[in-house]
Amino acid sequence: MPQLLSSAATNKTMFDRYMRLTIPDDKCQVMYVWIDGTGETLRSKTRTLDFIPKQASELPIWNFDGSSTGQAEGSNSDVYLHPTTMYRDPFRLGNNKIVLCETFKYNKQPTATNRRRTCLAVMTQAKDLHPWFGMEQEYTILDVDNHPFGWPKNGYPGPQGPYYCGVGANRVFGRDVVESHYRACLYSAIEISGTNAEVMPAQWEFQVGPCEGITMGDDLWMARYFLQRVAEDFNVIVTLDPKPIKGDWNGAGMHTNFSTEAMRNKGGLVEIEKAIELLSKTHKAHIEAYDPHGGKDNERRLTGSHETSSMHDFSAGVANRGASIRIPRTCAEEGMGYLEDRRPSSNADPYVVSEILVRTMCL
Ligand code: ADP
Ligand code: MN
Ligand code: MN
Ligand code: MN
Ligand code: MN
Repeated sequence: MPQLLSSAATNKTMFDRYMRLTIPDDKCQVMYVWIDGTGETLRSKTRTLDFIPKQASELPIWNFDGSSTGQAEGSNSDVYLHPTTMYRDPFRLGNNKIVLCETFKYNKQPTATNRRRTCLAVMTQAKDLHPWFGMEQEYTILDVDNHPFGWPKNGYPGPQGPYYCGVGANRVFGRDVVESHYRACLYSAIEISGTNAEVMPAQWEFQVGPCEGITMGDDLWMARYFLQRVAEDFNVIVTLDPKPIKGDWNGAGMHTNFSTEAMRNKGGLVEIEKAIELLSKTHKAHIEAYDPHGGKDNERRLTGSHETSSMHDFSAGVANRGASIRIPRTCAEEGMGYLEDRRPSSNADPYVVSEILVRTMCL
């Protein structure tokens, strides 16, 4: 993105006055949200309905100009939006809705960045194993000039150490964004399970999960959309770049915690160890799936330092935050639980990550 020269902030008190206007009881605004041609960024547009939908299947199929989102040629530009998962709208409130959509081409085939189709098929195949996921979404807040939020404009903050889970105006930057986003997710029944300040100042994390099957990808994508909207309201930028600042600064990942019912039950550690054996044989394919550029983005992050493993080697260990796969200490002690795959990049597609995990360990 080119640098923005000035801030386009508006008067939020005035905005609030208009947003408090009520709309007719039988009307509803529905924000359709979809993943664009980058496979990383989201787009959205709204239509008014004259009924209040109870579920996504009641919503009309819609379309958009795919030539403006990297999803179609100008001469054949209509791309279809199929509503899949509906949420209460935490921004417009009332009966208004936000709906996550899948994108389909003119010939009814999924677009290249619609990775939900195959994910759903795999989750349906594996449903009797009850695969659960918990994703830890790390992200960085930037000022509108693309400089990390709260960092000195002509230099760097002090070295990492005091910032992780920190408190105080000299240690954490942008907590309003984090708190607002947390509430927005809870309001909309997204399975958000926590947040924390990260090791690099202005870097944060939220966790979504445990979620079963396709709900993982759906809830995380919508939580990402909410995060962008909240940041927009506060006039700051959120980036999911896995290594936003070069040098001695932690990168950002999307650690993915995984379990099947057998892993969660008594004796599950044996199942976890079997799964790790399978993961050890498919390391390369997983690395290719763990960022939107086939491993290119993770090259900057998975260096073997800053609490990461090298992307060229597979490793696993109890409580080891320098390994590809970590078995949490409590799980090793209890003999059951889940494993953590620390390799996915912060900008990975959760549908792609959850699909390959199930393909490798369950099918
Ligand atoms: P870390 O110690 O790696 O920072 P977090 O507390 O940030 O871990 O995240 C742990 C994640 O694991 C949460 O999203 C949580 O919902 C998820 N989780 C907990 N139990 C399970 C389980 N049995 N299967 C899958 N995910 C789980
Ligand atoms: Mn138009
Ligand atoms: Mn975490
Ligand atoms: Mn983290
Ligand atoms: Mn983690």
